[in-house]
Amino acid sequence: MTPFRHALDLVYSTLRDFHEQGVEAQAASEALSRLAAAVKAGPERAFGPEPAVVSSSESRVSEGEAEAPEIMAIPATPSPVSGLRSPLSEKAERLSELRGPVLACVKCPHLVKSRTQVVFGVGNPEAELMFVGEAPGADEDKQGEPFVGLAGQLLTKIIETMGYARSEVYIGNVLKCRPDMPPGASGNRKPKPDEMQTCLPYLRQQIDIIQPRALVALGATAMEGLLGVTDPMARLRGRWHDFQGIPLMATYHPAYLLRNQSLGEKRKVWEDMLLVLERLGRPISEKQRNFFLPKG
Ligand code: URA
Repeated sequence: MTPFRHALDLVYSTLRDFHEQGVEAQAASEALSRLAAAVKAGPERAFGPEPAVVSSSESRVSEGEAEAPEIMAIPATPSPVSGLRSPLSEKAERLSELRGPVLACVKCPHLVKSRTQVVFGVGNPEAELMFVGEAPGADEDKQGEPFVGLAGQLLTKIIETMGYARSEVYIGNVLKCRPDMPPGASGNRKPKPDEMQTCLPYLRQQIDIIQPRALVALGATAMEGLLGVTDPMARLRGRWHDFQGIPLMATYHPAYLLRNQSLGEKRKVWEDMLLVLERLGRPISEKQRNFFLPKG
C-alpha cells in the first residue's frame, strides 16, 4: 500500500465520518484529483517498487480498521435460541426461494463483472431482530457472508453483548454485491443511488419474509436505503423510526466505531442497543446497563 493510496483512503473515510456526525466538510477536488493521479501513477514513481498485488485481506486491514478492539467484550449470557424452527419453516422456505434469483442477479453489469459472489444475507429466518448494513466489503465478497471482516467481528461482539447469538438474528445489506472500485484502489465505496434502487427490492423482500419485531440500521447508508433519509447519523440515532410498521433503530456503523474509538461513541451505540433490548422486552442486567459509562 502506497502512502498516496493510504492518504486517499483516509480522506474518504474521514469525510464519511464527518457526514455521520453531521459536520459539513469537503475536500478540494483539485487535491483529490492529484492524490488519485498519484495513486494511479503507481508506487515506483515516488517510493520504489512494492508488490503489485495486495490481497484483499491486507487491503482491508489497511482501511484503518486496524485491530478489532475489545469494546464489546463483556460476554452476556446467550439466551436460548427462540423461535428456531426446522429449515422447512415457511419463512425459511420463502427466503431460500428468494436466494436463487438474488444470487443469479445481473441487473448491475459493472458489479457482476467485479464481484466474486452475491452476498445474500445470513441468520435466522425467524429472527425477532434484523441488522441492515450498507454493502459487502472485500472479505464479505470473498466469503459470501455479510459482516465477516473486522467491522463484522465488532458487530458480532455487539450482538453477543446484547445477549443474542449471531445465528439468532438476521443480518443483511442494502446492496448484495460489493461496490466496484477503480483499478488499484483499496477500501470500500458507498453504493450509488441507482445501485441502491436496483437492489433494494431484495432487502425489502427479505424484511417482508422475516417480519422481525425490530430493525437496526447500521450507518447512514442503511437509513438512506430503508427510509430515503439523508440526515447524518448524529441526528438519526437514538430514536425509533418506522419501516413499514416495523420499529427501526438507527445507529453508527461498526466501521465508524473502529475508526473512532472514544468511549463516548461506543456508549452511544450501546445506548441505541439498550433501547432495542427494552423494546423487545429482553432482560437487561445491571452490568449491561453500565457498559461504557465512566467509572467512579
Ligand atoms: N459493512 C457493511 O455494511 N456490510 C457488510 O456486510 C460488511 C461491512
